[in-house]
Formats: sequence, C-alpha cells, structure tokens
Amino acid sequence: MPTLLARNAEVLVTMDAARRELRGAGLYAVDGFIRQVGTTDELPATADVVLDLAGQIALPGLVNTHHHLNQTLTRAFPAAQDVNLFAWLTAQYPAWTRIDAEASRTSTLVGLAELLLSGCTTVFDHTYLFKSGNSVDVQVAAAREIGARFHASRGSMSVGRSKGGLPPDEAVEDEADILAASERAIDRYHDPRPGAMTRIVLAPCAPFSVSADLLRESAALARARGVRLHTHLAETLDEERYTLERFGVRPVAWMDALGWVAADVWFAHAVHVSDGEIGHFARAGCGVAHCPSSNMRLASGIAPVKKYMAAGVKVGLAVDGSASNDASNMLLEARQAMLLARLDLGLRRPGGPPPEDWMTAREALELATIGGARVLGRDDVGSLEPGKCADFFSLDLGAVDYAGALHDPVAATVFCAPTRARFTVVHGRVVVEDGRVTTLDMGPVIARHNRLAGDLAGR
Ligand SMILES: [Zn+2]
Repeated sequence: MPTLLARNAEVLVTMDAARRELRGAGLYAVDGFIRQVGTTDELPATADVVLDLAGQIALPGLVNTHHHLNQTLTRAFPAAQDVNLFAWLTAQYPAWTRIDAEASRTSTLVGLAELLLSGCTTVFDHTYLFKSGNSVDVQVAAAREIGARFHASRGSMSVGRSKGGLPPDEAVEDEADILAASERAIDRYHDPRPGAMTRIVLAPCAPFSVSADLLRESAALARARGVRLHTHLAETLDEERYTLERFGVRPVAWMDALGWVAADVWFAHAVHVSDGEIGHFARAGCGVAHCPSSNMRLASGIAPVKKYMAAGVKVGLAVDGSASNDASNMLLEARQAMLLARLDLGLRRPGGPPPEDWMTAREALELATIGGARVLGRDDVGSLEPGKCADFFSLDLGAVDYAGALHDPVAATVFCAPTRARFTVVHGRVVVEDGRVTTLDMGPVIARHNRLAGDLAGR
C-alpha cells in the first residue's frame, strides 16, 4: 500500500479536539489515510513519497461547502457586475443554459484547480442547469482527473417564468426527468464509505425556481437512498418577499413545511433569518454554508455567523459560484469571513463589542475545515488525526506576505494576504507542488476556457 511522509513543518495545525498546533511536525499516511501525526522524530524515517515541509505551515485541507464551478465561464460578466441577485441571475441564465459537456468539463477543471491551489481539498458543487449536454458524469470525471474530493449535486430548476418562477422556461426541466436523473446519479456515483472521493447530493436550486412537489419528492428520494439535501435559502430580501407573496410564509417556514429543516440538509447563505429561526436550525441540526464574498458582491446582506456558532448551528465556509465571487480561493474566503463578521459588530454595536463576539483567525480556520466537514456530513476529513484522510496543504512562511507576522504563523494565514499552496495533498496524492497543479497541464485548459467563455458571452 502506498505510503506518504510529510515532515519538518514549522507548525502543523491538527484541528483535533484539543486544537493542538505542533512544532517541527508532520504526518505519516498509508493508502490515503493518516496513520501517525507528531513531531518529525516520532515519525517513520521514510516512505514511498516524502515531502519536506521545512519553513512551511501545514493545515488540514479546506472544505468548500457551496460552489457553482460552471460559473467560471461568466466571471466579471459585464451585464451582471453591478446588480443584486435576481437581476444578476436573469442576466446570466441564457448563457448558463448553453453550457455543454466541453464547457462544463473545462470550467469544472478551472474552478477545482483554483481551489486546490488555495488549499481546498473537498468540494461541494451545486450545479442545477443540465440543458445542453452538461451532466454529473462530466463533472465527476473532471474531479477525478484533477484529484479533488468531490461532492457533486444533481441540482434542478422546474418552475420557469410562465409559472411564476425567476428563470426563463428554456432553463428549467421536467420534474419526472429530474428525479430519474437524480436516482441515476446516486446509483452510479454515491460512495458512502469513509474516504469516499465522490458523493452525490440532491439540490433543487431555490424557492423561486422549484416547486413544492419537487422539494418533497427530492427529500423523499434522498432519504430513501441516504444522500444529503441542499438548496439556497434566505439569501436576499427579494427572496423573502417572493415566498411571503407566493406562499404566505418566510423562507425558513416554507422549507419547514416541506420537511427540509433537518439534520441531513444544509442551506447556502441563510443571511436573512430571525433569532427564532437560528434556534430552530440548531435544534433540527441543519447546516449553513456561509459565503461572505458573494454576499458582499451581490449586496445580499451579512449572515449572522457568530450567532449561528453561539447557538450550535453547523457552519461551513464557501466561495459560492465563480460569477459572484469571482474567485475560488478558500483561504481568501476564510479571511473574508473573519473581516465581515467584524464589520457586522461595528454596524450593530456602536459601544464596542465584547471580546467573545470577535471572530478570530482560528475560528475562521475552524469553519473552513472541521466546520465544513460537519456540514457535508463527513467525520473523515477536516482535521489531521490518525484514521482520517490524508488531506492537507502547506504554505511557505518565507513568502513576503507573511514577513513580520511569524510570532503567530497560524493567525498569519488568515490575517495576511492569502498565498498559493506550496503542496496540496488529497487522499495521500500530491495534487499541487510548488504552487502548480501536478495532475494536468493547466495552460491548454485555461486557453480553452477563455475561448469557451468568449463564445458564451457572444464575443
Ligand atoms: Zn449559490
């Protein structure tokens, strides 16, 4: 069985129960799973693959809990630069409807490459447009090729404009077809075992683009097959207005009525929630994917992340789709989460917030690692401990970005400007080395991606 030894890290952040940060440390892995974590002299002397982490900090691989990888094709899209969510969506639905197999494969590779380079090793992608040859098969194949641990969604939209939804009719699908494709994706790809590289999630898009029936049927199918459920919720005040006008209740009550506030569900955004709804999330055990950059970019609002954490709600971080960020950099997102939580304090507490209300750098890293793992329902990633997957990354502490911050290298990874990973390892496989993806040549992929993006934008 293949072995991997990483040694000599200046600091190794375990994220174990005691939150140990080890000096002069590393780990030893067998067949993709960690066998030992400790100081370098406690570890075996050699292995099939040996990484020297001298001068580097090693952290658990980051976990991204919400993305739309195909949106790398419409980053900085001119008609969607300076508008809020509904106008932003409406400007891009026609282009996204034309994404074919080649465009999906290429954009999935581009987004995953960017994530791996930022230390992210586990990725959930919420794709909900499968109109022109895009498929779960294409995305899973791309993730396997580049080497990311991938939770793919069979997402969906079924309520077009003629039925009162936001998307154009040509962007939505028949509900029977959606459910059949969902079942097929589970059959073909869902792996429930520890260490799984591929899992499937059922993910109807949002309250303004799917029906009550589809939400109910998707939940029944997911629960019969033991896969998780995901959707966008309470992202904007426009959405709140929509569910109040159409269904007579706020977004969380709408989900509750359909059996969707539960431990096998997590919601993207959950910005506009009351204290009572936060308590309900905590008791039900559902999770939240916090997307600070996207919420700022689209002027959606500030999610009450510290309140979620205090109430015991499961919270992970996410970069959201590449057309509302427009970066797929998880380390940057941890920094944004810390900064936005602090801005929220300034806006609400002019007297000066108490120390426990500040989001710390280490809390931001927790959300980005074990927090995200809990949201995705995984206890085998998110920390560096014996028995867990060998998913980790390292950063070069000699980079100019960290100069002057080395009294606390762990905090520096969040406070200072994010740098590219020196190494990223997924299940014991080195997928980034010296800041470059090792598993494929990204040059031609980027060139093709730019051509395809130009085609979609009508250039
Ligand atoms: Zn999203």
